[in-house]
Amino acid sequence: DRLVVAVDGTSGSGKSSTCRGVATRLGLRYLDTGAMFRAMTWWMLEHGVDVHDPAAVAARCAEPVLESGTDPAAPTITVDGVDVAAAIRTDAVTGSVSPVSTVPEVRARLLRLQREIIGADVQPVGIVVEGRDIGSVVVPDAPVKLYLTADAAARASRRAAEQGAADVAATEQLLLSRDAIDSGRATAPLVMADGAVHVDTTGYTLDEVIELVVGMVDR
Ligand code: C5P
Repeated sequence: DRLVVAVDGTSGSGKSSTCRGVATRLGLRYLDTGAMFRAMTWWMLEHGVDVHDPAAVAARCAEPVLESGTDPAAPTITVDGVDVAAAIRTDAVTGSVSPVSTVPEVRARLLRLQREIIGADVQPVGIVVEGRDIGSVVVPDAPVKLYLTADAAARASRRAAEQGAADVAATEQLLLSRDAIDSGRATAPLVMADGAVHVDTTGYTLDEVIELVVGMVDR
């Protein structure tokens, strides 16, 4: 059977590194749906759309052409043909992505795109998909579902190290405010999907978490 591994969880829980590591080890493809929400947000900011005006965001969200490459060794993301891999990680995008992600029209469009990319004819080998609503909405029948979390302090110090940021407390505040919006929104809130296994990564190294997940998938 073609394998879909659905991985959801909080910001900074180690989802991306874990998913890429697991996909590489098992020879699967990899889709980062957060990057798609970030790319949509980047486009809105580029085009001067007020990200706090849901009607304005909804009116424009069909316009950007998004393309996601699914090689776990080198994931790519382009918008209207422009490589935005670095641009979608700026503070400006990170600070605006949660309000954009709450707009139902945005979620509906990206859901369609995600299902096309995940489609069996496109990814015959199977795929690890990471996000906030993968096990609950995007692929509810995924045979393997994980829910990754970590203590806020652990998440903030990992994220700050990744970004070379000095202010761990500010990083923690940003993560917590994204969690609150992601969990509290009406459409596709971050929840633990039915049948998901909760993995708390606090205190484990990345390699330990990858081993654990590979063991769960490779039954
Ligand atoms: O995973 P990452 O932190 O890059 O995701 C950025 C944001 O995109 C999240 O904070 C969330 O608001 C949104 N997102 C979402 N649904 C997904 C993936 C990401 O709403 N499946």
